Amino acid sequence: PAALSIWALNIAPSPTLAVDAKAKSLIAAGEDVCGFAAGEPDFDTPEHIKEAAAKALSEGKTKYAPTPGIPPLREAIAAKYNDFYKIPTEASQVVVSPGGKFSCYLTILATCSPGDEVIIPAPYWVSYPEMVKLAGAVPVPVLATDETGFKLTPAMLEAAITPRTRLLILNSPSNPTGAVYTRAEIEALTAVALRHNLYLMSDEIYEHLLYDGVEHVSPASLSVEARARTIIVSGFAKTYAMTGWRLGTIVAPAPIAKAIAELQSQMTSNATTFAQWGALAAYTQPEKTQAALAVMLEKFDQRRKFLHFELNRIPGIKCLLSQGAFYLFPNVASFGLDDRVFCERLLDEAKVAAVHGSAFGAPGFIRISYATSEMILAKGVGRLAQFCAGLR
Ligand code: PLP
Repeated sequence: PAALSIWALNIAPSPTLAVDAKAKSLIAAGEDVCGFAAGEPDFDTPEHIKEAAAKALSEGKTKYAPTPGIPPLREAIAAKYNDFYKIPTEASQVVVSPGGKFSCYLTILATCSPGDEVIIPAPYWVSYPEMVKLAGAVPVPVLATDETGFKLTPAMLEAAITPRTRLLILNSPSNPTGAVYTRAEIEALTAVALRHNLYLMSDEIYEHLLYDGVEHVSPASLSVEARARTIIVSGFAKTYAMTGWRLGTIVAPAPIAKAIAELQSQMTSNATTFAQWGALAAYTQPEKTQAALAVMLEKFDQRRKFLHFELNRIPGIKCLLSQGAFYLFPNVASFGLDDRVFCERLLDEAKVAAVHGSAFGAPGFIRISYATSEMILAKGVGRLAQFCAGLR
């Protein structure tokens, strides 16, 4: 047998990508599967962004670029944080990476040494604990159930901190729950983190996918002290339907941004050059970008309300109405099945793909992505209802 490293042996492959891949291969084989597992918008990238990338390609923008990103894109991203969020940001604090996922990994590598503890509120995005382990650090999940709206409280955070705690990961709006922390909640958690001298990685990749008029609050916007300890991760994938482009962003205090760029220089070099020129159009043609985003948001919002209503009509399911991203996270514990088994049977017997909550550190729940057409949503919820009726 091959002798694999501890890194290869210890890492769990992404369960969300695995479930989605299984659903897609069943669909490709002609099966009528309703796919609720994908973490990606079902829309296409806005036309002006695609055109800008195609133009860059035909103009020969096909060479290496500076490792932290093409200068106009770094400047545009800095301007976004300055103007939109009132977070003073220089272009030198911005790094463009090959995806929000890699932005997270770089941030963890730049802040954590072996043995450091990283507090990860659960339900968490599947990749955080694995990335922490790849850095030799120790993931410390802290579970917040639907009883606290899936949100970590300051008391829970305080109780999880030890002298080894180095980093707190926040992800609002959240994957997998869609929960959005309020300003007061972000203030309270940030205060605890600062009191203990922690770094904060704020994964804001769903920052624009907000409903019911709620606001997105970054810890970095709260104070100079908070800004000095916060690394903001974001990207283009979710907001602009650009998952396949592989473009992420990082905004960090200057020394950390520099360290992150140095790590990236040895790991991937720059993110794809012509993709960056395409992404730039999201900022240089803001009216078109806003219009495209508004169309997607309206659809997501309708689906969110529909799905929430329909899920709560199913006897045995309890589902909170979340205010961000494109996920709902219903509680299916009342059926008395392990959530893995629930999802396996749901796929095999009812042809509906959803991801088991334990993948996100939250047994007893399932994640449903509503980034899919109204027709598939309606059909899938109907099948779920029938499946659940059969379990009772
Ligand atoms: N962070 C969260 C919370 C996510 O859900 C995702 C994607 O699923 C990412 C980061 C990474 O996105 P990408 O690497 O596609 O930019």
